[in-house]
Amino acid sequence: MEVKKGIAVSPGISIAKALIIDSEDYRIPRRQIEPSQRMMEIQRVRNAFKDAGTELTQLEVAQDYTEGSKIKDIFAVHIRYLRDRSLRKKVTDLVQSDLVTAEFAVSTVLREIAEHFKKQKDVYISERAADIYDIERRLLKQLLGRKREDVGHLTEEVVVVARELSPTQTAGFNREFVKGIASDAGGRTSHAAIIARSLGIPAVVALEDLTEYVRGGDAVIVDGNRGIVIVNPDDETIQQYEEYSREFIQLEHRLDAIRQKPAVTRDGARVLLLGNIEFPDEAEIVLQKGGDGIGLYRTEFLYLNTDREPTEQDHYNAYAKTVRVFDNKPIVIRTMDLGADKYTQSKRFAPEPNPFLGLRSIRFCLQNLTMFKKQLRAILRVSVLGDVKIMFPLITNRQELMQAKMILHDVMEDLDEESIPYSRDIDVGIMIETPSAALTAFSLARDVDFFSVGTNDLTQYTLAVDRGNELVSTLYSPADPAVLRLLRTVIQDAHKAQIHLSVCGEVASEPEYVMLLLGLGVRTLSLTSPMIPEIKQLIRSVTTKDCNDVARKVLSMDSERHISSYLRNAARKILPEAF
Ligand code: PEP
Ligand code: MG
Repeated sequence: MEVKKGIAVSPGISIAKALIIDSEDYRIPRRQIEPSQRMMEIQRVRNAFKDAGTELTQLEVAQDYTEGSKIKDIFAVHIRYLRDRSLRKKVTDLVQSDLVTAEFAVSTVLREIAEHFKKQKDVYISERAADIYDIERRLLKQLLGRKREDVGHLTEEVVVVARELSPTQTAGFNREFVKGIASDAGGRTSHAAIIARSLGIPAVVALEDLTEYVRGGDAVIVDGNRGIVIVNPDDETIQQYEEYSREFIQLEHRLDAIRQKPAVTRDGARVLLLGNIEFPDEAEIVLQKGGDGIGLYRTEFLYLNTDREPTEQDHYNAYAKTVRVFDNKPIVIRTMDLGADKYTQSKRFAPEPNPFLGLRSIRFCLQNLTMFKKQLRAILRVSVLGDVKIMFPLITNRQELMQAKMILHDVMEDLDEESIPYSRDIDVGIMIETPSAALTAFSLARDVDFFSVGTNDLTQYTLAVDRGNELVSTLYSPADPAVLRLLRTVIQDAHKAQIHLSVCGEVASEPEYVMLLLGLGVRTLSLTSPMIPEIKQLIRSVTTKDCNDVARKVLSMDSERHISSYLRNAARKILPEAF
């Protein structure tokens, strides 16, 4: 039995057999094999080279070449590599000497060659690195192909174990069979974690080297409440966890009973609880859990599940489906937040060196106007169906906001010319998720109808800590005094400007932060649907005075550790079952 401690990112307990999958960009964890498996792995390498060569030859034959086309040359080069015996031997030698899997050997050898090419001064040679990466992917597709399909066609319950999961992979999991998720990498607010929470799949991330301890088929317990994963548990541990699991389910049922009641404090302050969603189907779940509308629709997920770019009608259909669930309740549609860990890197020839500081989010949209306008048209068209609002993410300065608004106006003019109806006074808001936006909130407030504070990114950018990197996860905390001061500034500036404000980062779904947020003056929270009942229960158990006292106390403290433990104790007193 092996007990590993990580970060709990999605509550619940699951016990099932492990299914190990590799990450989408084919970064392969080192996995050892037994000496007796050596010949089998070597044969797998040979087959992969052979099958990849055949696949490429068939593709080449099917191509319709134009005169002078370079494609033929590229195919020829790749086929030559795949037939190169010395290359294949390097890979099989590594399997032989280091007892590693075929996947790991292929990846290691080809990446070494690519790195060597990249360092060459001659541009022609350095650019060949891309060919090598391409060949690596082609070989890995042969080696991993069937395993990847398995995740989509499961017939029994599993716990997915991976080095790292992308948001797209996680979004594709079938809830019926994927009962738990455990990964070496990741952080509490990494997008894969957020999706696991939305799907209601218990998950633990940042387990560092779990993949080295688990083999496919091993029994695994995922404790998404305490952040523990147990590999091959003994009978006593299994019994104990079955009991925990029953208690947890009973708590969920008890909380479901208050779902139709409003989120109102004991002294009558009404709090709006909106849902965060990634897909239109989730709107129904938000409603079932007692949500008052949608406060954050992460529309970029429309791009992540498909190989083709969504059309305007695809956008429209997804938004219309969501709006129809809620009649006239607010639906905040965030324009696509692509880039960073979502979508654009895998489409680029050379990935950006610092994607979270790169062409992400609104910056990406402002450089890809055709794509952006298509989405804006769809949002405007859907605005006649309900209380739809537009929200721009990752605004860092006024100029960016004005540019985005100008493009929105251009799109409105286009619709006018085509006599297509839309709501002219649609609310336009921005996410405050960078220190620059927080510090200039007083000025940004003049040009928007609302703010929504994205504390996930605000924490990452304020503290200079990657939100998805397990190596620095202990440094990532929204309870840091620096983050809380920015948050307080934004709330005060929104109140002064008399614009609406909500908080839509993960803190809104964490019971320990709720009293603080209410005490700071927040009256709208947007959160992941499974947590709505618990947060509602907490709100219904406190008074505004309790919350104001908590906020006053926290703002007088200067240590993240003290603030975190104070907040946890304060919330635990109110709702002990949540901890
Ligand atoms: C945030 O940054 O807090 C946020 C809600 O946006 P996302 O998690 O999608 O980056
Ligand atoms: Mg964000």
